[in-house]
Amino acid sequence: MKVFSAQFLYTLIILPAPVFSFPPWIIPESEVPPIPPVIAVAKYGNPIVTSCLSNSTIEHVLPSSPKYASLSRSYNLRFDYKPAAIAYPKTPEEVQQIVKCAISKDIKLSIRGGGHSYGAFAFGGEDGRLMIDMERFQTISYDESTEIATVGAGVRLGNLASKLLGHGRAIPHGACANVGVSGLALHGGYGMASRLWGLTLDVITEIRGVTADGELFVANESENEELFWALRGAGSAFGIATEFKFKTFPAPETLIAWRYDFQFRNAEDAARAFMEFQAFGREKAPAKLSIQIEVTENNIGILGNFFGPREEYDDVIHELYDILTMVYGGEPKVEIREQTWHENLVRMNGGPILTPTVGFNQFDSFYAKSLVVPDGDDLTYETALSLFKFVFDTRGSAPHYFFQINLYGGKNSQIAAVSADETAYADRDALLNFQFYAYIDRDDVFTPDIITFIQDMDNSITSIQNPRNGELWPAYANYIDPTLTNEEAGPRYYGHNLERLRQLKEKYDPERRLGVGLGI
Ligand SMILES: Cc1cc2nc3c(=O)[nH]c(=O)nc-3n(C[C@H](O)[C@H](O)[C@H](O)COP(=O)(O)OP(=O)(O)OC[C@H]3O[C@@H](n4cnc5c(N)ncnc54)[C@H](O)[C@@H]3O)c2cc1C
Repeated sequence: MKVFSAQFLYTLIILPAPVFSFPPWIIPESEVPPIPPVIAVAKYGNPIVTSCLSNSTIEHVLPSSPKYASLSRSYNLRFDYKPAAIAYPKTPEEVQQIVKCAISKDIKLSIRGGGHSYGAFAFGGEDGRLMIDMERFQTISYDESTEIATVGAGVRLGNLASKLLGHGRAIPHGACANVGVSGLALHGGYGMASRLWGLTLDVITEIRGVTADGELFVANESENEELFWALRGAGSAFGIATEFKFKTFPAPETLIAWRYDFQFRNAEDAARAFMEFQAFGREKAPAKLSIQIEVTENNIGILGNFFGPREEYDDVIHELYDILTMVYGGEPKVEIREQTWHENLVRMNGGPILTPTVGFNQFDSFYAKSLVVPDGDDLTYETALSLFKFVFDTRGSAPHYFFQINLYGGKNSQIAAVSADETAYADRDALLNFQFYAYIDRDDVFTPDIITFIQDMDNSITSIQNPRNGELWPAYANYIDPTLTNEEAGPRYYGHNLERLRQLKEKYDPERRLGVGLGI
């Protein structure tokens, strides 16, 4: 029989801390500095773009509109791209109309789902594009007979989760309620249930939309199969999704939300703890366990969910817990709670999950990048030590940052259960996914050295260890790094699927009207 310390068995009454510990800034429209229409029109207006929309009944916003300043902001305020117009189509046919007009006048498009791209790629990476905002596509319906949910491309994750829960159902997706289902599902979609159920893109059964040449499409396993393949992982480069169908799962009645917080004395202990986490993740963690490390300047948390009863959780975690406390030389701060699926969504989001369907007004200013560790390329102790030395050496001088290390692989992980060529998403052999993220307070200025800081943090790994195959460390397209060139981005995000994607790009979007930043 296992013996746990009293501290370990102690369950806090309060909710454990949210996964993301920083709140986004809420900036009401009234606080957005207006752009005088004369200036906005002169700088960003384009009569050719305007003509596409003004001859139609499609709702749209031009630089001359008083709403333009607030509607043309990106979630990551570090970027200030300005479109020539923002169109709000309501139907696939209206999307088609816009695309056809764009083709006839040789206009480049950009697509906004939830607008949360790290590099503001919903703007297409430049001023002057015709933006198609999917905000009006807010359908969420559920068919009990097939257990399939039909979801519009403008839906945000919190509203989706909430509506599905009304039917007792759920899908795997990310933690932040404001993120759009479109960008998330088209390029991956990792969440706490992903080792159990897969990535969001793994539960897509069909995508409908409009191709870059203006044709309506239905893509699934038996219709437009190669488009369906490309859309699941590299979606923004291959079409404009208007609607998704997702396979759903019964929402767990309850689950265990757990978290241990450590204040390691030195980099050596932190690196040893990482090595234990990595080995446990690969060898022991069942698919029911989600687990991640979250590092901030002064804290290292190990946390996750367990989709099973408390006794089973205790059985699963004790080995890791015991060894971590040995390395630590004491007890961490422990937070363990049995909670409902809804409570867990709220906790992970750091607040209520319902979001307004129009007038989104939350922002951040940040730079992030990712690094995927394939199974078999496990970080060595020397590499982990280099990373944690960086953490300890920069204490007191670092910008606001966190990094997370998510366990993707390991025993029976449903992410790894899919073969690397089954969808465009290539990182099926990922053991770990690192995300490095630095941000500023609202009144601060984002300076280039913050980007350098994150790149140096990433370098503290890549300068010590190379992947076995001698190729690049892979990266995750949803944590898109806007500093990468096309040539740098493509191989990192798509590995061996890149060549096929580039061939399909010639077929589906030879004019490069869609999709920027993925390196395809
Ligand atoms: C606060 C925060 C938390 C996050 N948490 C997670 C997480 O837990 N797990 C995870 O996996 N990721 C997470 N992410 C990353 C997130 O998955 C990506 O940023 C995602 O691409 C955002 O999708 P979006 O629709 O909101 O963004 P957008 O900026 O609208 O879109 C992202 C890209 O997809 C394209 N696109 C959007 N809609 C469509 C469409 N309908 N058709 C074709 N192309 C389209 C855009 O043009 C753009 O290139 C998080 C991001 C943030 C900012």
